This record gives sequence, C-alpha cells and structure tokens, in this order.
Amino acid sequence: MSKLTLDGLTKVFGQSGGDDVVAVDDLSIDVDDGKFLVLVGPSGCGKSTTLRMIAGLESITDGRLSIGETTVNDVPPQERNIAMVFQSYALYPHMTVRENMSFGLEESTNMPDSEIERTVDDAAEMLGISDLLDRKPGELSGGQQQRVALGRAIVRDPEVFLMDEPLSNLDAKLRSQMRTELQRLQEDLGVTTVYVTHDQTEAMTMGDRIAILNDGKLQQVATPIEAYHQPANRFVAGFIGEPSMNFFETTRNGDVLVAERFEYPLSSETADELGDAEHVTFGVRPEDVELVASGSGDHEFQTIVDVVEPMGNENNVYLQFVGEGEAKLMEEREPFVATLSGMRTIEAGDEVVARIPEDAIHLFDSDTGIALRNRRLDREAALPSR
Ligand code: ATP
Repeated sequence: MSKLTLDGLTKVFGQSGGDDVVAVDDLSIDVDDGKFLVLVGPSGCGKSTTLRMIAGLESITDGRLSIGETTVNDVPPQERNIAMVFQSYALYPHMTVRENMSFGLEESTNMPDSEIERTVDDAAEMLGISDLLDRKPGELSGGQQQRVALGRAIVRDPEVFLMDEPLSNLDAKLRSQMRTELQRLQEDLGVTTVYVTHDQTEAMTMGDRIAILNDGKLQQVATPIEAYHQPANRFVAGFIGEPSMNFFETTRNGDVLVAERFEYPLSSETADELGDAEHVTFGVRPEDVELVASGSGDHEFQTIVDVVEPMGNENNVYLQFVGEGEAKLMEEREPFVATLSGMRTIEAGDEVVARIPEDAIHLFDSDTGIALRNRRLDREAALPSR
C-alpha cells in the first residue's frame, strides 16, 4: 500500500494530419495511502487516459507519477504493482472462476500452488463467491462476474487499485449493492484506490475525495460534501447534484442582481464578496427553493408551476417566474426546478410563491466561472475533512 502522486501529469495525443489533443492537462493530485479517490467528469474529459497513465498502459507526455517515493513514469505496467478492474470484466471465458483468479499469480509470481489456492479461497470468501469457483464466466450473472474480476485484482495484493467504471454494466439495484460492497472491501483491504466514473451518485457516495475533471483539466479536488456545497466554480456546481443547480445570468446594479426575469437585492455583506464583478451567474440548488405563503419579501417571487415530476419521496417542481400583468405561462421560457417533499400536493398551473433565501445562493463570475460566494452552511465547521 502506498501513496499515489500525480504531479503535473499531461497527456498529448498526436493526430495524424490534425491538431494535437491535450487529453490530460497538468493534473496534480495526491492520494494518501489507503484512501479512495473518485475521478469524475463528463465523457471525454480525460478520466480513462489518466487511469491508463497510472497503470502504465499509456505513456506520460509530461509531469511525474509516483507510487510511494518512487517515480514510475518509465516503469513497465507489470512492475508497478497495480491491479486494474475494468467495465468489461475481461474474464477468460474458457477458464473456471478459480483459474481466472489464479492465473495472474501463476504467471507473475513464484507463489507455490498451495498458497495460490489459499489466497484465491480467502478472496472468494471475502466476496461471497466460494460456491462459484468451479463455474465458467458464461454461467455467472453480471454481478457475479464483476465479483470475480474484483477477486482477480484482490489476490494480486497490489499497492494501488485502479477501477474504470467497474459497475456500469450492472442494473441499478445491483449497482447500488455493489457500491456499498466495494466501499467496505476497500476499507477492509486499505488499498489506495482510484475509481473512474461519470456517474455522480457513485462519485458522491463512494470516495473519500472526488476529483472533478473537465476538458482534461482538474476543476476541484475535495470531499464530496465540499464539492457539493462549496464548488470551486460553475462547472463543478452544475456537474455535482441531481437535479442540477439552477443558474441565472445577472448583471449587477449596485447591491442588486438584475436577471431577465427577476431582481435580487443582496445584503451589503454578500455584495462585498463580489468584488468588482459586473456579470454574475446566480445559482441555487433545487432543494433550497422554498414555496411559501406570502409573496412580498425581498427574496420571494411569483411563479407558476409548469411541470411536476413525482419521485415518490419528493417532487421535482418546474417553475416559471411570472411578472406583473403577464400572461400566465410563457412556454418559451426555461423553467427552474424546486425539490419539495413528495407528501406536498402541487399541480401544473398552480400559482405559487418561491422564496430563494440569501443564505443558500451561490454566485459565480460569469466570465471566468469562478465561485465568488458559496452558500452559507449552518455547520460549516463540521464539514468532514476526510
Ligand atoms: P469516457 O467517459 O467517454 O470514457 P474519458 O473521460 O475517459 O471519457 P478519455 O478516454 O480519457 O475520456 O479521452 C480524453 C480525450 O482524449 C478525448 O478527447 C479523446 O477523444 C482523446 N483520446 C483518447 N484516446 C486517444 C487516442 N488514442 N488518440 C487520440 N485521442 C485520444
């Protein structure tokens, strides 16, 4: 087990007859010994390329990669003591589960057969697949195959686990079960792990820390809770959270933010945080939009319900602002979303007052996307620093 250090890691793919592609751009992240880092971002942001550089399957254009105290840029993959689990389980179809799990140890170590057998038995027990050891992959469900793929990685007793979307071929229920199992396993084994996903539920629930990438560049590395409540920029704010944060473009007029559909007066304390930014992106998470009775307060707005999306425990309510004397529903307008308790009855066409409390708002510089002000947290001091 070891600390993993990415220091300015860069990957440029040369294109024949075209521009070079900078797939990973100056990426610096430390993963402490035994910790679980989730690498998350949209398709094409460079997650897999990063993982493949760590594994040694892709050369490093620039920067330094270390495992423990050793720089491994030029160390071949088989000598890096890393085990990788892929989305496609990549099991050998003609071998039994036991043979699949033993194969790597037989090929790359001098371990005696009896010890290999014991190691495989231990891993199989840990994963609850002891009774499947004589079966072939074709006779297993997707979840069982994924456990075998994990078992094959575990028996190698690596310094680092790399996992590339390992659960994405499983159905939703099994995925959530395997998510918990994987976390428990990683904690028990205490192996430094980098886990790639584009699924932000996995990112939020699994990692000690998450690194959010966009366009090859690191946007933020933080605990999931920090990334959610204290996003470094608009990209992170929009990427983390489902439904996504609501955004409105505004222009500043003194201490008032003027959007196309509403005006939002700021306290002088909040206005001070904006510095001299003129154009400000206003953000609020759906669960922070309240529906209230009155409608005359500074941060209360007349709205009409466009669509209600019942989720069972909660409703996603799509709202549109309604100005004085306006037609009730302006179809061409983008609605914004509020998340309310599923017990609350509300229907399309209802006129409601939405309150957006100042404590809950996020403000970003519209030009750079950088967060100028994040929501206040009651328990800010209690944010876990994992
Ligand atoms: P996904 O979630 O879709 O797998 P990703 O975040 O893993 O995406 P990468 O596969 O790392 O993204 O790709 C990052 C960028 O590098 C993309 O623009 C991709 O087109 C480019 N790229 C990846 N491999 C190569 C290659 N061998 N040659 C040229 N460009 C490549």
